[in-house]
Amino acid sequence: MKKKHKQFNFLIPLAAIFVITLSAVIALMSVGGEETVYYLNQLNFTPDPKTVCIDPGHGGTSSGATGEGGKRLEKNDTLRLSLLVRDELQKRGYTVVMTRDTDTDISLEGRCKVANKSKAALFVSIHRNSTSGKGQGCEMWIHSLNPSDDRLLAENILQSLENMGVDTSRGVHTGYREGANKNYYVNRCSKMPSVLAEIGFISSAEDNAQFDGKIGDLAMSIADGIEMTLLEMNGE
Ligand SMILES: [Zn+2]
Repeated sequence: MKKKHKQFNFLIPLAAIFVITLSAVIALMSVGGEETVYYLNQLNFTPDPKTVCIDPGHGGTSSGATGEGGKRLEKNDTLRLSLLVRDELQKRGYTVVMTRDTDTDISLEGRCKVANKSKAALFVSIHRNSTSGKGQGCEMWIHSLNPSDDRLLAENILQSLENMGVDTSRGVHTGYREGANKNYYVNRCSKMPSVLAEIGFISSAEDNAQFDGKIGDLAMSIADGIEMTLLEMNGE
C-alpha cells in the first residue's frame, strides 16, 4: 500500500507540470498570437539557400478575383506568371518548388506545408489585386512583425518591377488588409521569409494590358528580386 501511494504522489506533480506547460503553449499560440507563432515557426528550421518556393494564388474551384466581366480569373494569371518565374529561377540554377503547377485546389495550410517541407529559403505567393474603384499597380504584403529579410525580399521585388516601368507606388504593407495585427495565412505559417505579391489589378484594363504584354519581363523582375535577396541574405 505504501509503495503505491508513493508512486501516486510522484505522478501527480509530473502530470500537473505537463498539463500546465501544454496549456501555456496552446494559450500562447491562440491568444499570444502572431509573435509566438512567428518565433515557434523559426525553431528547428534550416533552409536550403538554393531552394525557392513559388505559390500561384488560388486554383481549382478557387478562382480568386475576376476581371473583364468575369472572363478573366486570378487563378489563371497567377499560374501563368508563376510558371515563368519558376523557369527563370531554374535557368539560374535554383531549385524551385511549386505549391501547384496545374489548375488544382490546394488549401492555404497545404501551401505552407509544401514550402516548409521543401526547406525553401524564400517563399513568394503570387496574386492579382482587385477593386471596384480605380486601383492600379503592384503591392507587397509581409508579416506584421516586419521581419528584415521579408522586407528585403518585398523591396527587392518592387525595385526590380519599378526598374521595368511598373507602378510600385503602393509599396510594402505589413499584416493583413483587414487588421494590422493579423497576417495572411501564407505569411503566418511559412517558416522562411515570405511575401504575398499582388502583381497589378485584375480590375484594371491598363494593368491587364501590361500583365499580358510584358509577362516575361514581370517574371524576370520577380526572379531578379528573389535572387538579389538570396545573395544578400547569404552575404554575397
Ligand atoms: Zn488572390
